Amino acid sequence: MQYELNVAHLYGDLMNTYGDLGNILVLKYYAQQMGVKINSKVVSLDEDFKAEDYDIAVFGGGQDFEQVIVSKDIQTKKDELIKYIENDGCLLAICGGFQLLGHYYIDAKGDKIPGIGALDHYTEPQDNNRFIGNILIKNPENGEEYHGFENHQGVTHLGKDEKPLGIVEKGYGNNGQDHTEGAVYKNVYCTYFHGPILARNGNLAKNILMAALKRKYPDQDLSKAASLKVPASY
Ligand code: GLN
Repeated sequence: MQYELNVAHLYGDLMNTYGDLGNILVLKYYAQQMGVKINSKVVSLDEDFKAEDYDIAVFGGGQDFEQVIVSKDIQTKKDELIKYIENDGCLLAICGGFQLLGHYYIDAKGDKIPGIGALDHYTEPQDNNRFIGNILIKNPENGEEYHGFENHQGVTHLGKDEKPLGIVEKGYGNNGQDHTEGAVYKNVYCTYFHGPILARNGNLAKNILMAALKRKYPDQDLSKAASLKVPASY
């Protein structure tokens, strides 16, 4: 049986700060070792996103300029993206992508950029400051640690249905105040980590691949995939 996962790289030509594309390369790298084929496709401006076509979506970070462009287009994909998320589709969203899945992002100029409200967070500006540097978080559910690098102007406040991806041990995280970093809702993983996150955190890459496989192949024996050993987060 050939397992296959279809990956949508949302706005991959616009939202790709610090090589977030690398997250897809890492998914392919580990998937190959699991015996899983990955087909990936950029889904950008004026292109259809159909919820049933995909098993994983990756939405990278971007600068305010690109976010304004994407914010307008993503409203046309809003219903299908919400359907995909509510139907347990896997999604990894980084920084600007994370912000646009929420209600809104107020940019460095003070302009309010609408998100799609698929997740219940919102993002406000800082006063002439950015959160930049190395960051370490610990996931409260599974105890895993994730190492990364953050660079963002926005400060994000999570909504009621969201859990953080991790609790900040070193760095700033969502807002520099409540020690949360990123968000998890159903099979959606959001984070401020660039770099790309999955290259340094094979544990998270494996979690996403396993979630996608379990959703697509609920009756299959996935023990070979589950036995994959990944390097420790660094
Ligand atoms: N423009 C957003 C901010 O500064 C997102 C940045 C990013 O994706 N790196 O908060």
